[in-house]
Amino acid sequence: SLTAGIVGLPNVGKSTLFNAITQAGALSANYPFATIDPNVGIVEVPDERLHTLTEMVNPKKTVPTSFEFTDIAGIVEGASKGEGLGNQFLSHIRQVDAICHVVRCFSDDDITHVSGKVDPIADIETINLELILADLETISKRYDKVEKLAKQKVKDAQFEYDILTKLKNAFENEQPARTLEFSKEEERYVKQLHLLTSKPILYVANVGEDELLDVESNDNVQKVKEYAEQEEAGVIVICAKVESEIAELEGEEKEEFLNELGIEESGLDQLIKASYNMLGLATYFTAGEQEVRAWTFKKGMTAPQAAGIIHSDFERGFIRAETVSYEDLVEAGSMAKARENGKVRLEGKEYIVQDGDVIHFRFNV
Ligand code: GDP
Repeated sequence: SLTAGIVGLPNVGKSTLFNAITQAGALSANYPFATIDPNVGIVEVPDERLHTLTEMVNPKKTVPTSFEFTDIAGIVEGASKGEGLGNQFLSHIRQVDAICHVVRCFSDDDITHVSGKVDPIADIETINLELILADLETISKRYDKVEKLAKQKVKDAQFEYDILTKLKNAFENEQPARTLEFSKEEERYVKQLHLLTSKPILYVANVGEDELLDVESNDNVQKVKEYAEQEEAGVIVICAKVESEIAELEGEEKEEFLNELGIEESGLDQLIKASYNMLGLATYFTAGEQEVRAWTFKKGMTAPQAAGIIHSDFERGFIRAETVSYEDLVEAGSMAKARENGKVRLEGKEYIVQDGDVIHFRFNV
């Protein structure tokens, strides 16, 4: 499954946030945390629709879908030229599918900032520069080789050379690969380079507990937002310290605490949803009397591929997917009624599954 890595300079609130993630995961009975790698935090994906379906179907069991965060250890600064912990940092980033970059926006004189003052843009650039330098290193050997081949007019070498030149120029100007435009064909080539700066990124602005209600007036947050916008990256604003308190609570207690704080949704829930979106993930449901369950799939998947997430047999023996959209089902009030209204479609192998589809797979064993 896809995972988002949590990165950040020291003392920005990473551990506080990651502890909130593991705490929230430990509360849910579905993921016995003893079996999980300590650097991985598994959380439930919050989804109101699952509650509505549960009320409608009244199943024995309801199972949410989950999302994994990875805590990225290692030393950031100098990582691209470093050994040991620095290399570890880069190799861990290589293994994740997206990056959640925690940026310090809270001021607290008791907590030292690595560079002496709170400067979120400098922090962002420090990490991004390491990733850019690592990517430059990744392509440079190939670049030299391809340059020669292109001069010799070797077939396809010019195509490759043009892409690598574009990347190299960007990296030398401290631009990440994700900001560049490529054709579909070029994109396929770029993809297999496994660049760190191609991965989608979300900035997590960590504000102080007293600043949570008025983030608009936080200059540091505004700076992060402006920076993210020109990079087409997302931003969410959280207070890691408050998140660690929220993560101790569940259900009504959690609701009450959020009300007291004057916020609608916990920062962690926002982080989960934003990470899910950034990775192009969506949810479909299965709804039977035994179990109502949410399943994560990648947008663009066909019905057999989505069925394969439940079990490989479902994909192999796929016959059809009886599908109703969540909205149609809720409007009808029951599966039987939806069927009566002709809202349950019989979809075949080519069907592209949509977010919110409620599906019953038919398959041969
Ligand atoms: P890491 O080095 O990035 O993992 O940072 P930590 O999570 O260990 O946090 C460093 C220090 O900052 C700790 O003393 C935290 O309690 C404190 N801290 C983290 N988040 C916040 C916050 O939102 N507000 C305040 N005031 N302190 C925070």
